Amino acid sequence: MMEKIKIAQYWGAGCGGCDVALLDIEEKILGVAEIADIVFWPLAMDAKLKDVEAMPDGYITTTLYNGAVRNSENEYVAKLLRQKSKIVVAFGSCACFGGIPGLANITTSDDVLDYVYHKIPSMYNPEGTLPQPEYEAPEGELELPVLYDTVKTLDQVIDVDYFMPGCPPTVERINEFLDAVEKHIKEGSPLPPKGAVIASEKTLCDECPRRREYRQIERVYLPHEIPPGELDPELCLLDQGIICMGPATRAGCGAKCIQVNQPCRGCFGPTRAALDHGGSMLSALASVFKLSENETKLSEDQIIELMSQIRDPLGTFYEFTMPKGLIKRAVKEKGRGQT
Ligand code: SF4
Ligand code: SF4
Ligand code: SF4
Repeated sequence: MMEKIKIAQYWGAGCGGCDVALLDIEEKILGVAEIADIVFWPLAMDAKLKDVEAMPDGYITTTLYNGAVRNSENEYVAKLLRQKSKIVVAFGSCACFGGIPGLANITTSDDVLDYVYHKIPSMYNPEGTLPQPEYEAPEGELELPVLYDTVKTLDQVIDVDYFMPGCPPTVERINEFLDAVEKHIKEGSPLPPKGAVIASEKTLCDECPRRREYRQIERVYLPHEIPPGELDPELCLLDQGIICMGPATRAGCGAKCIQVNQPCRGCFGPTRAALDHGGSMLSALASVFKLSENETKLSEDQIIELMSQIRDPLGTFYEFTMPKGLIKRAVKEKGRGQT
């Protein structure tokens, strides 16, 4: 009888959606159970870190690590699972690019703690207590993971074999990877080359069913600002003034958001050719706004007016990829209170 492979799944700095996505593969999970034993999955089973520490190096066939690396525990577990695993997959946008937790790189961990424990209205904390990494309680010393100042991607901390983007990864891409592993185990077929991204090499616009007319837009809209019935369901959202990250984003999700009239927010990350997701989108926007020297019919004031209509530029252009971008984090000038 074929020896089963061993799978581990860990949840770093993320929302847990990636763990749930693995359950979304439905009956396919039976196929997984046929070829694999799950040896560590904190969300779904009672396994302790000391169990992983006791495993021989390389014991786990594949670790799916979701979430970014935000604190000392995330880093310790990432390094431990790397040591114990033959294959490590950065599973989901947080692990691949830092994801939404990575937006915290616009500020410092001190400012994050100050806001959460002192300023949000629902927090009752009259003594202004902050979490401490070590605390002497009557029962003994208690420890909490140390919150890092900078959110990191998984491959900024350990060597990663494969990247599966998506917030969370789609069922189709998870199945594609599991099928490849199953075929490798049962038939000896080769796995994807190291470093492969389990998605498409094209841009989302290439797989999007909408018609692009490359119109020059004069106003930027949020999706809800266009009254129902006035949004053309077959015309590109950018052509209708809605900022859609499709031109800069890797395909592979089946244009899920576009199919429900929502713009792409970029969860599959940049294409291989793009150094920086936000920069790549800004460059695409320049052509949508027709801002090149030869093309623009707009005055400087009109250009500033148009660009200023983009609310939350950081969240628009770097919602999932700030730690992986060229500018990985903001720098705080000490003493001036500026980030
Ligand atoms: S990639 Fe999305 S679904 Fe997965 S942990 Fe991060 S925020 Fe959650
Ligand atoms: S910009 Fe968005 S809506 Fe337009 S073609 Fe690309 S993915 Fe589709
Ligand atoms: S359309 Fe964009 S944001 Fe939506 S699932 Fe696809 S890549 Fe992610």
